[in-house]
Amino acid sequence: MKCHGIPAPKKYPRVLDALVETVLSQNTSDSNSHRAYLSLRKRFPGWRAAAAARPRAIEAAIRTGGLAQIKSLRISKLLNLIARERKLISLEYLKKLSPERAYHKLLSYDGVGPKTAACTLLFGAGMPVFPVDTHVYRVCQRLGWAAPKESAENFQERVGLFIPPEQVFNLHVNLIAHGRQTCHPRRPDCGRCCLNIQCKYPHYSKSKNI
Ligand code: SF4
Repeated sequence: MKCHGIPAPKKYPRVLDALVETVLSQNTSDSNSHRAYLSLRKRFPGWRAAAAARPRAIEAAIRTGGLAQIKSLRISKLLNLIARERKLISLEYLKKLSPERAYHKLLSYDGVGPKTAACTLLFGAGMPVFPVDTHVYRVCQRLGWAAPKESAENFQERVGLFIPPEQVFNLHVNLIAHGRQTCHPRRPDCGRCCLNIQCKYPHYSKSKNI
């Protein structure tokens, strides 16, 4: 997507950092979830201390991120599960697996769905796994890339097979930017859209409230 240029790289030092911030990003804005993540890291600089803490202490640290009670339980459970399974509270071992195996391993953790698993691997492990979030799904449905009744999960797993690995990061980040800046949920700005010609969606105009 030339209209959005080449996005700046966004990488986490460790895979687990990316997983926790992705859990925090569920159903809230990036700015809220990032604030909650920074507050959590300030309160618990090491994951072992967070795993040993009561979920209420995690909840207090992530309150600004929304759904703090649910997310604190989810994070506490994940950290303890990883600690029991691996001894070390770390997911760095996933980098040694194939993207497919790493993806399915993450999906086996309670509270980790397809989008969370894909974001964790893309941003935390630099693996070419394509996450389909609400913006990506909406834009791709309108473009006709996703079938009308295809679920976001199905689309994510299907489309991921066709994207050249070196394009996955840029395409994901640019589709999100496109969904936020142009292809809005209610009033897409089709007149100024760089994908206008190839789009299957009935273009929005001021006379038609599509
Ligand atoms: S033409 Fe309109 S509906 Fe299609 S991708 Fe662009 S903004 Fe979205």
